[in-house]
Amino acid sequence: MRRAPVATDSSGVALITFFDFNHRIQDMTGIVAVPEPKTDPEAELRSAPPDTTLERLLMGDEAAACGALDAGISAAYAYPGTPATEAFEVVLRHSARAGRPVAAWSVNEKTAYEQALGVSMVGRRSLVVMKHVGLNVAADPFINSALVAINGGLVAVVADDPGMHSSQNEQDSRFYADFARILCLEPRDHQEAYEMSRAAFDLSERFQIPVLLRLVTRLAHSRSAVVTLPGEPERPIAKTTDPKSWTLLPANARGLWRRLVEVNRELREWSEGCSFNRLEWSDDDRGLGVITTGIAAGYYQQNLPELGFQPSHLHIGAYPLPQAKLRQLAARVGCILVLEEGYPYLEERLRGILPTPVEVRGTLSGHLPETGELTPEAVGIALGLASRPGIALAGEPPPHRPPQLCQGCPHRDTYAALVEALRDYPQSIVNADIGCYTLGALPPYSAIESCVCMGAGVGMAKGASDAGLRPAVAVIGDSTFLHSGITPLIDAVKAGTDMTLIILDNAAVGMTGAQDTVLPSTRLEPLVLGLGVDPEHCRVLDAHPRRVPEMTEALKQELAHPGLSVVIAVRECIEHARLEKARARRGR
Ligand code: SF4
Repeated sequence: MRRAPVATDSSGVALITFFDFNHRIQDMTGIVAVPEPKTDPEAELRSAPPDTTLERLLMGDEAAACGALDAGISAAYAYPGTPATEAFEVVLRHSARAGRPVAAWSVNEKTAYEQALGVSMVGRRSLVVMKHVGLNVAADPFINSALVAINGGLVAVVADDPGMHSSQNEQDSRFYADFARILCLEPRDHQEAYEMSRAAFDLSERFQIPVLLRLVTRLAHSRSAVVTLPGEPERPIAKTTDPKSWTLLPANARGLWRRLVEVNRELREWSEGCSFNRLEWSDDDRGLGVITTGIAAGYYQQNLPELGFQPSHLHIGAYPLPQAKLRQLAARVGCILVLEEGYPYLEERLRGILPTPVEVRGTLSGHLPETGELTPEAVGIALGLASRPGIALAGEPPPHRPPQLCQGCPHRDTYAALVEALRDYPQSIVNADIGCYTLGALPPYSAIESCVCMGAGVGMAKGASDAGLRPAVAVIGDSTFLHSGITPLIDAVKAGTDMTLIILDNAAVGMTGAQDTVLPSTRLEPLVLGLGVDPEHCRVLDAHPRRVPEMTEALKQELAHPGLSVVIAVRECIEHARLEKARARRGR
């Protein structure tokens, strides 16, 4: 079922146009103010009688989560990360109301994935949710889990972020699924996000492999009508009877690898016939074939009325690729245009699958931009349509508003103290990490000099100190520290590195919506001391505007200390405090 969407992001602002949305609306502003639904659509949906078919306005994230809930998952795990966070929040809310499934934020994506794997081993269905770069963290269990004989369905919902709205890169998770040699599903719209999420659990159990459901920002954060079907009950516990198929000793793993190769043959066969991969012939294709993947189908359909003819069209929503269908299309047309969101994954592979006389157009041929998101406009131009002039906004253009730390954010006070404490040094290095505090790179503080990946700042400061540049400072949030900062700190403890680690403890994962940190603030100091940090140089400070002079003095002392020091700057994120108050008012 298809509906013209009300496409909004989680803040109630429309993000995108696809399906039947009017080009000109998008061209004019890129955004359309649409109020967020007053009710929680997922709550209404879940409180309906169990045999009810419902239609609700859901974000792509929410649709994928509802599909998993309706597939009868017993447990779900995640680490917050835009644009995937909202999918897990649906599961959390449902779990809080209904008591099932088991659902909790994990310390990082790797531990989340491993917990989901444990659920699968005992025969129950499990969901794991993460953003694309989170899959880098979970890569070890993710890739190895392709070899074990998945028991209860295991589905990883991974949201990619083309255009880097909230991420450090544009990596395309289809490559990960391919690398692991598992099945990947890529919904074209919200309805398919729901349907594929449900189907993914059946497919995971049928082929005994994990399934990756790939979302992208424009789908994850926009809303559309979704029809949901009655849900399934949880599976009973049925632990695997073949522990060898879960024990990757080389002698077992060789056999399991052969099994995976055989499963891949079955997957390729399945992909040819599956309803997510559809080939539609046109009597008037004029020698042009169009292949779309995921949400590119909507952009393509938007442009069709203006095109004046109908290319033959293959839509791909399931991988591995349906090679026979690709060859059938190539045998009939002289030119193929590939429309895909992300890397030129399909375009690159086509060149090895198709006969050379067929011209392949896409990003590699220069017909589509190689970076950023796909847009209806870019698709129209690739189809040969003229560029559409935008409609000028009346009045002055809106002022440029660069992102900044909230007024009253505790990080402001820590950065003010750090900048002051470093003033006496002719050179220094401050390596930071991923979180709200990365905004410390911008004026007025300009306090940090790097942000690479979760936890990297700690290891990088150690490396800089090893190289001889001091003072070397690492700045990391409490949640990022628990996620990936502990292990490089152990390296620094063992080496007795001359560096200062500042842990910004705001009791929240601020950047993704102020979720609770896995461990409360009171547990950080004992944790750091337990790793072997000298108690004389492990200080807990109050990150408050009135305490900036004291913080500055303490930081000066620790920067001067010729060894490892850890400073924990504590004050609650004001957004987290606001949400806590609202929760208390609602009585939960
Ligand atoms: S959300 Fe919290 S941590 Fe992030 S900038 Fe605002 S106050 Fe600071």
